Amino acid sequence: MRKIIALCIMLCYFYTPHVQAEQSRVKNVILMIPDGFSTAYATNYRWYKGRNTVMDAFLVGMARTYSASSKVTDSAAAGTAMATGVKTTNGMISMSPDGKKLKTILEAAKEEKKATGLVVTATITHATPAVFAAHVPSRWKEEDIAPQMLQQQIDVLLGGGLAYFIPKKEGGESQTDLIDEAKKKGYTFVRNKHQLLAAQEEKVLGLFAEKDMAPELERDNTIEPSLAEMTSAALTKLSKHPQGFFLMVEGSQIDKAGHHHDAAWAMKDIEAFEDAVEKAIEFAKQDGETLVVVVGDHDTGGFSVGGYGKYEANPQLLHTVKKTGHSMMKEIERDENHAKEIIKHYTNISFSKKEVDAILRAEKEDIALNTAISKKLLLGWTSTVHTGVDVPVYAYGPGRELFRGLIQNTDVALHLAKLMGVSLQKT
Ligand SMILES: [Zn+2]
Repeated sequence: MRKIIALCIMLCYFYTPHVQAEQSRVKNVILMIPDGFSTAYATNYRWYKGRNTVMDAFLVGMARTYSASSKVTDSAAAGTAMATGVKTTNGMISMSPDGKKLKTILEAAKEEKKATGLVVTATITHATPAVFAAHVPSRWKEEDIAPQMLQQQIDVLLGGGLAYFIPKKEGGESQTDLIDEAKKKGYTFVRNKHQLLAAQEEKVLGLFAEKDMAPELERDNTIEPSLAEMTSAALTKLSKHPQGFFLMVEGSQIDKAGHHHDAAWAMKDIEAFEDAVEKAIEFAKQDGETLVVVVGDHDTGGFSVGGYGKYEANPQLLHTVKKTGHSMMKEIERDENHAKEIIKHYTNISFSKKEVDAILRAEKEDIALNTAISKKLLLGWTSTVHTGVDVPVYAYGPGRELFRGLIQNTDVALHLAKLMGVSLQKT
């Protein structure tokens, strides 16, 4: 018995200072959110890629995603949980269910004089980035979120959503000219990849599309930067800051693909997200004081590996699909008589006339087309919104062991605050 007690004391003695030492080494945090990404996406993508993914090596656990109002969260409540450590009602942006403002991990990092950044491929004002920098009762008020984000003086803001910064009289959706305001606050404003890569200044507002940026499957890589390019640009700027930084990077389009049951769109955007993760891990390896955490906010679409009563799945065939279902349907609308040929041209999958007619008769034609493509490859979908399954958590760097096992989405904010030595409590 004495031996056991002595062993326990010895283990505590060696273990505790080690954990504290690890925690104090977290100077920088890169939180990466693949929106809508669950285990089914991870598995299908691994088969699609043909080998292990960059994320696979860093798997540490699973996160529960339910919100204060439902077993099935939306992105606003899920993001709020990850940004503030508090579960809230679906739709709310960093406010408690009773309407009180919640301090976010980005705000807490700023209080400790850290640099901050948000990088996304949807609008910079949509739910996931908004939860870090704005407080509104409804996520749909993107025109109210934009000025709050500028108010926060975030060093690097990159994504889509130019319309929410341009005044109404000039065709935008903002009350005032927020681009002008941003320039007065010291931001360098960039509109395309070339300008982003050329910008030497540390404070940058980059808006590369009116609303969402393009799906990776259809991105014009001469105009829009990739998620990896935006991540690298953000890291170059933020890493110059002596007090360290907090950066959130979102693979926004995975969720959008899921809502449309577009498996090819999802795979290509996971690939783009994986490239960004690789950049973050490379930076963290060099730096030694950077923690990278990768965790989705929820599943989208109830995606599955296999389906339709068959013991098989063929996600690797998604490489032959060259356009989103949405774009294919736009082309078919102009030339309905050649629907069969158009689908074959972009997917290399043959559909019968009966199958094509069913797609054209559907209320939501692009979802019908995408679901039909998935069915041919034996990939299932059970919802056009989100589902409540747990999501995988990946971590690399000092403090990663805190994210091990089954965690709550709220633990993301709580653990990051502890590791960075910042406070989420009101001061
Ligand atoms: Zn989401």
